[in-house]
Amino acid sequence: MIEENYREVLENVKKAAVRAGRDPEEITLIAVSKTKPLSEIEKLIRIGVTEFGENKPQELKEKYENVSTPVHFHQIGHLQTNKVKYIIDKAVLIHSVDSLHLAEQIQKEAEKRGLTADVLIEVNAAEEDTKFGVTIPETEALVRDISKLPNIRIRGLMTIAPFVDDPEENRPVFRMMHQLLLDIKSQSIDNVDMNVLSMGMTNDYEVAIEEGATMVRVGTAIFGARDYSKVN
Ligand SMILES: *Cc1c(COP(=O)(O)O)cnc(C)c1O
Repeated sequence: MIEENYREVLENVKKAAVRAGRDPEEITLIAVSKTKPLSEIEKLIRIGVTEFGENKPQELKEKYENVSTPVHFHQIGHLQTNKVKYIIDKAVLIHSVDSLHLAEQIQKEAEKRGLTADVLIEVNAAEEDTKFGVTIPETEALVRDISKLPNIRIRGLMTIAPFVDDPEENRPVFRMMHQLLLDIKSQSIDNVDMNVLSMGMTNDYEVAIEEGATMVRVGTAIFGARDYSKVN
């Protein structure tokens, strides 16, 4: 039952926060519903869940337009510039901004619609070849460049940690991300908030919370395994 799974994950989120001496209210659990049908999202909406994460812009748009009650959809997957138009007025937060080029497209589409887009900068903290995102040393410069775009507000950072057997292996990655967030925050850059740290997935969200995550993105532990053979 996905409702029970959700409640269990939420309970683990709270326990991890308390263990770390943090206020559980600081942490937002995003139910990652990518590849899952609207009917499963509706089950969670009925128990009061409002935050959902999607990878593909068209899928986000489709679900946004068909859901029974307005809820928040987060664009958590890689975003191509030509897809920005699908989600610019629908995603509550874009977690995956990793270049000035993409930010400029977001700026253009946001300005067209007279809105301000909230974004996170995606950091490839472990510098894996297979992942999108800027490296830690590149992050501040990108934040400074994007901060000059008037219709974008940078709210913080996001990372996808390596896939590991033991979540403890990712603790140093999460710790580096938290430090990076604090370092950039201390610069007090105009138009930059740096209050959101989106990190932690099914395998490692508890460790991520212990190390300062304010948003965790959990799919499998809530909805079960994904079947990609049925998608597209
Ligand atoms: C799929 C995905 C998740 C959720 O992954 P699970 O391991 O199923 O919890 C989180 N973040 C991003 C960016 C994803 O693509």
